[in-house]
Amino acid sequence: MKAHVPQTGSFRWEGIEVRPYAKDGTHFEGVTRQVLFEAGGSELRYFEIEAGGHSALERHDHVHAVMVVRGSGRCLVGAEIHDLGTNDLVSVPPETWHQFRAPDSEPLGFLCLVPSDRDRPRRPDEADLAALRSDPAVAAFIRV
Ligand code: MN
Repeated sequence: MKAHVPQTGSFRWEGIEVRPYAKDGTHFEGVTRQVLFEAGGSELRYFEIEAGGHSALERHDHVHAVMVVRGSGRCLVGAEIHDLGTNDLVSVPPETWHQFRAPDSEPLGFLCLVPSDRDRPRRPDEADLAALRSDPAVAAFIRV
């Protein structure tokens, strides 16, 4: 890793690949991922969800520490739905369902800190979805 990596455009950095966000062979529409740092046993990634898009609905044992750095949006963490503004912080505990959504008007960009050695995210099965959908607000929010 070079000591200094300049920004080359809006939320783009020199030499850092912009990858589609992929999970289990499925590409989530309009989500990109850039790995900014691999240091101290952790990775800091920048995700960007295009206007109207969403991340995967998933859970896993590792935690996420998230900081919104572009735009606004909403997220599901467990049974709670939160409005997000730029510079807000989000903590996702272990084994907690989570999903991020961008508004129709602008992209949502956030930094996400994870351990380098981490378990694979799991998607909800039909029983999980039924449990999630028992809450009307969650049912209206989630995209699968
Ligand atoms: Mn996750």
